[in-house]
Amino acid sequence: MYKNKLDSMIWSYSRLQCFENCPQAFYLKYIEQIENNKSNSFFSDYGTFIHKILEQYYSYDLSLFELADKYKDEYNYNIRSMPPYNNQKIADKYLEAGLSYFETFDDPFNQYKIIGVEEHFTFEIDGYKFQGFIDLIAQKQNGDIIVIDHKTQSAPKIKKEKEKLFRQLYIYSRYVYEKYEKYPTKLLINLVREGKILEEEFNIDTYNSSLFWLTDTIKQIYNTDGFAHKEKMCNSSYYCQWLCDGYEFCLDPARYEKKKKDLSI
Ligand code: SF4
Repeated sequence: MYKNKLDSMIWSYSRLQCFENCPQAFYLKYIEQIENNKSNSFFSDYGTFIHKILEQYYSYDLSLFELADKYKDEYNYNIRSMPPYNNQKIADKYLEAGLSYFETFDDPFNQYKIIGVEEHFTFEIDGYKFQGFIDLIAQKQNGDIIVIDHKTQSAPKIKKEKEKLFRQLYIYSRYVYEKYEKYPTKLLINLVREGKILEEEFNIDTYNSSLFWLTDTIKQIYNTDGFAHKEKMCNSSYYCQWLCDGYEFCLDPARYEKKKKDLSI
């Protein structure tokens, strides 16, 4: 019974986001736990690699002057696949963006004291266990706390995308509150490839609505009937083919027809 799996699940932002994107993708990945047969993991490899270098820098394992060499020396080892459609232009663009970022690195957070790096946390909410990693927790001289997340994606183009990025940090703020007995005053998204920082002053109403989204999404997962694929998502073949781990096993008829065509069945 899949409800047993839900009962023992430690929830995370990516799990909830996966369900929001497509219930069937959530079912395949986290309940059926299908093997990911995708050869393509370019974007996640790239994100993990950038996070690793920044983690070493903020943990004082790498100096400013070592960043670019580390990136160049270990790029091929860490990024083992090509972007969708073997697109060399995208591969070059990502390689160059990271190199430029580290060659000209000017620590955007050097005015703060770093008090947490890739900090793993768990908390319980409404009886559900939730976990995550906070990329950076920083503190201003006056004691104010700032939560920072590194992202390797492009800057959000619409308000809703931006809100989703900050929603994750609002949820993580609950851990900050539990640990430091105060909310952060600011949330920052470090858009590495673009060299930009998105900033939001902490807002208690958005915090409460983010936590409501968390528990409400878990309740929806418990109450869902059949984990149907999302029609809207099915029209986005790029997402299905390249970003969904369940693509190979998806029961969406449209995908199945395409699969048959791809495989010349
Ligand atoms: S391939 Fe598309 S429709 Fe199928 S599970 Fe994945 S996201 Fe959903």
